[in-house]
Amino acid sequence: MNRPVPGRRSRQARAAVVASLVAGFAAVGLFTSSRAAENPYAPDTPEPGSVEAIARDTTEPRFLSPWVAYVPASATVPSPTKRLGHIAGAAGELTHAAQIQGYMRAIAAASPRLRVETIGKTEEGREIVLVVIADEAGIRDLARLKAATAALADPRRTSPEEAERLIATARPVYYFNCGLHADETGSPEMGLELAYRLAVSEQPMIRAIRERVLVLINPIAEPDGRDKVADWFYRYLKGKTDYDALPRMSPPYWNRYVYVDINRDAHQKAFGATRAVHDMFHDWHPTVVHDLHEAIALLQTWNGTGPYNPHLDPIVTSQFLEMSFHEVTALTAMGMPGVWTWDFGENFGLHYLDSVAMNHNSIGRGYETFGNTTPETVDRSILGGGTEQETYMTREWFRPVPPPQAFRWSMRDNVNYQQTGALSILDWSARHAQEMLRNFYRTGYNSWRKGVTEKPFAFVIPDGQDDPLRVAAMINRLRDQKIEVGRLTADLKVAEGTFRRGSFIVKLDQPYRNYAVDVLEPQRFPAESPSIPYDDVSWAFPVGFGVIAARIDDERVKGAPAEPLKVDVEARGQVTGNGPVFLLRDSGQEALLAARVRLARFKVEIAEKAFRNGTVDYPAGSWILPRQDGLRQALDAVSRELALDFRSAPKGPDVARHDAALPRLGVWVPWADTDSMGWIRYTLDREKVPFTYLRDEDVRAGGLKQKVDVIVYGPFARLELQGQIHGIAPTAGPMAYTRTPEFPSHGEPVASDDITGGPGFVGLEAIRRFVEEGGVLLTLGNGSTLALEGGLVRGMRRAADSEVFTPGSELRLTFDRADHPIAYGYGAGTSVFRLNNPVYDVPMRWATMAYCTSCLEGPADRRFVVSTWGGPGPMVVSGGMRGEARLKGRPAIFDVPQGRGHVVAYNFSPIHRDMNRSDHRLLWNAILNWSALPR
Ligand SMILES: [Zn+2]
Repeated sequence: MNRPVPGRRSRQARAAVVASLVAGFAAVGLFTSSRAAENPYAPDTPEPGSVEAIARDTTEPRFLSPWVAYVPASATVPSPTKRLGHIAGAAGELTHAAQIQGYMRAIAAASPRLRVETIGKTEEGREIVLVVIADEAGIRDLARLKAATAALADPRRTSPEEAERLIATARPVYYFNCGLHADETGSPEMGLELAYRLAVSEQPMIRAIRERVLVLINPIAEPDGRDKVADWFYRYLKGKTDYDALPRMSPPYWNRYVYVDINRDAHQKAFGATRAVHDMFHDWHPTVVHDLHEAIALLQTWNGTGPYNPHLDPIVTSQFLEMSFHEVTALTAMGMPGVWTWDFGENFGLHYLDSVAMNHNSIGRGYETFGNTTPETVDRSILGGGTEQETYMTREWFRPVPPPQAFRWSMRDNVNYQQTGALSILDWSARHAQEMLRNFYRTGYNSWRKGVTEKPFAFVIPDGQDDPLRVAAMINRLRDQKIEVGRLTADLKVAEGTFRRGSFIVKLDQPYRNYAVDVLEPQRFPAESPSIPYDDVSWAFPVGFGVIAARIDDERVKGAPAEPLKVDVEARGQVTGNGPVFLLRDSGQEALLAARVRLARFKVEIAEKAFRNGTVDYPAGSWILPRQDGLRQALDAVSRELALDFRSAPKGPDVARHDAALPRLGVWVPWADTDSMGWIRYTLDREKVPFTYLRDEDVRAGGLKQKVDVIVYGPFARLELQGQIHGIAPTAGPMAYTRTPEFPSHGEPVASDDITGGPGFVGLEAIRRFVEEGGVLLTLGNGSTLALEGGLVRGMRRAADSEVFTPGSELRLTFDRADHPIAYGYGAGTSVFRLNNPVYDVPMRWATMAYCTSCLEGPADRRFVVSTWGGPGPMVVSGGMRGEARLKGRPAIFDVPQGRGHVVAYNFSPIHRDMNRSDHRLLWNAILNWSALPR
């Protein structure tokens, strides 16, 4: 199409853009000045050239607002152009993390209205900083302002009258996260200009924001990813403007472990980026936490379609709608098309970075603007390609002006939309400052009072559970989320039962009561709801940790004597007796793989049947450690670290057993999708379990059985069979991901001379041979597609019916082979976390037909099925699902002997993020018993 574009636009056309913007100032009437004819920007003076530069990089006048059409000049504070040599969002420029942070420090050095502090560190050691902006008085007064929001956050120590007194002189704190998703590249550029504008502009609107609000900007929430993406741009994308022909736009890693999932970490706080924002939150108590994302045209302001999380206060759910509608109205009134709200996500699950606010009585919200990833200006079309964007094209009550269908789009356009939106809501916040603070206080007050007046009144986590390590981990996670936990100082008798002294108790008369109930109760997602959830619908901690937490509705629990926990819980095991043989009772402890690694130099045997020793019953899976030099000291260390109990016996029991040979463990991470496998690596690293990282090229090189005994593969959120085989398309030739002087961020955590091509058929043959030669392949979640549909094993097929829908729920399964080592520690059944993975089937004998090729081979042996979905009672333990009857009885775990080895395929992932700790053993069991899986 032949549309005018910036590079080719005539001087005349550019002048027309500027003129139309200047006219816009008068029309909007927000920047009013009696001298508008001489200087429409008064009282500001534009930095020379800024109006023209912004117009040049804006592709159409309607993609710009008067507020951001110029950069105010300052004699003392350096503008982005003075520091970087170009305006924020200039075509073809992507700023690295250190430059962004350095610029913020430069403004802080020159302006009394801005301060920079460090709030955390990333996995690769980069700093995470916070920019604080207010007028001079506000910056001088930060300690008092912070104390005020902290007091408002705890209604137990701040009465409504005292709150009103504080509100009169406090300020709402409005916080922005830029650059969380590293391939959404615009917001860190936008943040540069927003910070500068807020610091120096004398527009009445900006002055009011400075005087009535504390603005916090995290200019680069995930600096590790930012640098990798910036290097990637300069390495592979710079100068390329045919959008549809661009090679892969993102490096294979952002953070050391994950990319998209950096924004699914609110409950577990696994990563530095999350911990920094949570620490910031509990220091400043922001009224609003606002994430900036770039996946939808042209500006979608979030609040979720519903169903809303049942524990959100109604004040929150109506205030965030009000805020979004303000933005839609403000930008639409300025003539900017494609600004809309509501119909995106659901706001039932709150596991995103901004959720720290929603989970702690503030408002979490965000934008999706339209990002190109590449800072080059390109032609974009929303229609075609079958993306969800196509469904965002209609005019609706929540979308008054839909986005155009095809247009030219620049980084500056994106910056214009984000910054105009941000200014509109800061303007709104300045005008609703006291109301916002009152609602913040009232939300916390309501949450606390619910715990005083409504059931449940507490949760009790009994001491002495099967895995004290997981109990401690769950308690510490609650504490890490600022949920107050105590310990019973006397036995407690209530309607729900008797709980021993020493048990943990979460009394709900506390400000974060709503979040406590949300994470301690199973979720009930209305699965028949017409809107498909955006992400997981189960996150209950007791379910995920496999820990008993009793809900207490008996009001007497309020008076239960308990002392608050002041420090994290440390679980400890013990070693009793002096051997010479030691026994470890398998009660499903998570730490058995870590323990086996710590005891690598010792012989460990695993009982294949239950046995009794003295007065203790040992189930199958229990450990027998024969007499060995130095064993006792090693067990002391393991029991201390991993909370495992070892008891001595005069001799080994008379029971069938096998050697628990520690395998050489391999983790095959395809370059095409490192995200969900990052959690596997994260978990192994945390537990200090060594493994060999296998890249696609390592798999292609073959000889795998010479290197490793067990390979873990999967689960993958999105990678389909074709992508699992062929990987990243080599459309632009080989793509190296190596550290070089020019691209120093690349090569972490693992380098490659070429990330394209996947394992290919050569790699599949190498995997087949690995199993033939005695290796064990463990495929998780969607990784099982490769095994079951890619032809590594025969006789399994994808079930024909598609009514099954399990969007991240905790579901029951039953062990058909309760004596299989994978079942050790679990009894007859358990529940596991299941994403919406494909459903599989073993063809039945009567289904044999001439046109079913896999049936001609004869049906697969049902004995390969270790466990099937369903169990006593409803299948859903937490979350929600559709098509329960269609899933029930279908395989959940297969173990297929193949050649001298095995393929074990899980129809779910035993490691999903860091949420389903009680499922880990299902994977550890296959690793610990790899050499003794039944033939
Ligand atoms: Zn995003």
